[in-house]
Amino acid sequence: MGIESALGEGYFTSKVDALIQWGRRNAIWPMPMGLACCAIEMMAFAGPKYDAARFGSERLSFSPRQSDVMIVAGWCNYKMAHAIRRIWDQMPDPKWCISVGACASTGGMHRCYGVVQGIDNFLPVDVYISGCPPRPESIIHALMDIQNKIKDEHSIQLDQ
Ligand code: SF4
Repeated sequence: MGIESALGEGYFTSKVDALIQWGRRNAIWPMPMGLACCAIEMMAFAGPKYDAARFGSERLSFSPRQSDVMIVAGWCNYKMAHAIRRIWDQMPDPKWCISVGACASTGGMHRCYGVVQGIDNFLPVDVYISGCPPRPESIIHALMDIQNKIKDEHSIQLDQ
């Protein structure tokens, strides 16, 4: 029996790599890291109005072991930076990071000794979102940017 007679006309071919990346980019589970006022917008993003389930990201994961993308929302002080970095290190690869708002990305208006002047001082940020605060749609846009990034990658990095 040939494959055509077994499956009829309803089959398609693909690569395992493409299948893995398809699944990966449509189930990006966020690790919410709400630090200040921007976190309110992140909570709105996770609510029913913005329907993050369209991107497979409605399940906020409060366990780093089950997270794909860390969303850092709000300004970050030095004391907190150590805890965030530890959580980041506990997230399995591959993983991504979104910096939400002016304060997370640059320190914003908090130009003082206690505040980290941008989380990229201790985290590899993939997408920066501008604004004070950014709208929930911006977080959705950032997720789509990460989806595009995954599309251009391979499921296994042979050079690591
Ligand atoms: S960018 Fe604006 S809204 Fe966001 S944490 Fe800073 S001050 Fe708050």
